[in-house]
Amino acid sequence: MHDQPLTRRERRQLERVAAKARRQQPYIEPVLEAGQALPRGSLSIIDVRHDSWCPKLHGGLCRCQPDIVTHTYPPSLNGDE
Ligand SMILES: [Zn+2]
Repeated sequence: MHDQPLTRRERRQLERVAAKARRQQPYIEPVLEAGQALPRGSLSIIDVRHDSWCPKLHGGLCRCQPDIVTHTYPPSLNGDE
């Protein structure tokens, strides 16, 4: 299911969304890089830990350099095998 390649249209949509996100929040780039390194078929959670003073925590735009921490869980915990 998740091994099917994206269609050209889906790739373009994904690029548009990613470009928009990059324009709005500079920390999205390292999040995307972290996501590309995650193993396929696993459940992963990416923590973006902003500094306590960062406006992002109060609905504004991020101005800190957040720590990016990934947690990956094996496929057996996802509920499908
Ligand atoms: Zn921030």
